[in-house]
Amino acid sequence: MDFGIHLKKYYMINNWRELLLGPSYFYHKILIKRSKKRHYKPFTVKTKESTDINSKRDYLMNLNKYENTLFRFLTHKVSTGGTTGSPFIFYRSIIMSQKERAYLFDIWRSINYRPFDLRVVFRGDITKELITYNWLENAYILSPNQINASSRDFIIKFLTNLKPFFLHVYPSSFFSLSRFLGEDVIKSLKIRGILAGSEGFPKGQMEMIEKLYKLPIAYWYGHSEYAVLARYCFECHGFHFYPTYGKVDFIESGDCKYNIIASSFNKIGTRFINYDTEDQAIIDEIKCSVDEFPRIKIIIGREQDFFFSNDGSVNAFGPYLFGIHNRFWEYLVDIQFVQERIGELVVYIRTTHPDHKDIEDILNERFRIVNLRFVYVNNINKTKSGKSRYFIQMLKNETAYTKY
Ligand SMILES: [Zn+2]
Repeated sequence: MDFGIHLKKYYMINNWRELLLGPSYFYHKILIKRSKKRHYKPFTVKTKESTDINSKRDYLMNLNKYENTLFRFLTHKVSTGGTTGSPFIFYRSIIMSQKERAYLFDIWRSINYRPFDLRVVFRGDITKELITYNWLENAYILSPNQINASSRDFIIKFLTNLKPFFLHVYPSSFFSLSRFLGEDVIKSLKIRGILAGSEGFPKGQMEMIEKLYKLPIAYWYGHSEYAVLARYCFECHGFHFYPTYGKVDFIESGDCKYNIIASSFNKIGTRFINYDTEDQAIIDEIKCSVDEFPRIKIIIGREQDFFFSNDGSVNAFGPYLFGIHNRFWEYLVDIQFVQERIGELVVYIRTTHPDHKDIEDILNERFRIVNLRFVYVNNINKTKSGKSRYFIQMLKNETAYTKY
């Protein structure tokens, strides 16, 4: 009886949290439901010549061209490193996070997540405290830069005492966490499933996690521009794009690969139209037996990078740098991290910002677990395709590194 009342209260509080998400959330929740009843044609490929593609560079050079600036007051500024390309700044409608939530919840539902079920978040959120609770989200946030050998016992005790929860991670940060806590600890925790997005998650790694830890996974492809979104399908092992979220096209980029071209449906904030995401896809003819949404085979170009901290442990690089969402990116023209020895990262920085201390303070605070050596340069080499490489690992593969 007691348990029943407790459960009722739990769902009631979560319903309140859901109501607080606002009209855009509910509008898209309905759109998603309806969209699943329709039939869709497979993707077709466009040619470069037939489409007026807007590159990241176009947005960097002339941002206002892509926005009705009259509505600027309904937006907030997003400064991000993205996962490829140069530091990137644009404007996002303030209701976009409500929309985003409707889709994420739909993806998470596939592993029995109900809106506002308890989550433990281990991503790029760096906070002053080791563990912070966010009531609105019903989520505990673990700060990656506070995690070290001396806090390990406390973290294990804390997680062990939690009610069943979902682990919300980047694929690479799950790898860091499972190495830090150990296989037996992960197995002993009451984890209901893994919510993982934003970067590459090789199929072999997912299968290993499902087999070793018996944990279901929800995995998706999205980006900070919020223009297109796809979920990974464990039935056909491809990605299905949500047709009501944004429009996706493909243009051939050679070697049977296609660049993902995104068009957002949003009217307010920076409009990403025929926008080259710089992510690539492989398309095949397979038809999925459970999901009607148009699908592609693989998304490529988002690899996981790892660095070795002071104590020699392996850490996912992405969350440390790409979790920074403040003015930091505006200080930079370009940045690159190189690891040549354990416990040290050389940071090459190209900046026009007069005060280097601003930049160094932010980075030192985030990368507390490794020594940073700053080098200011006038140029950082790009890859052949013109992308920035944020991280280069010079150390040869260690055993720990290749375990997965
Ligand atoms: Zn499928």
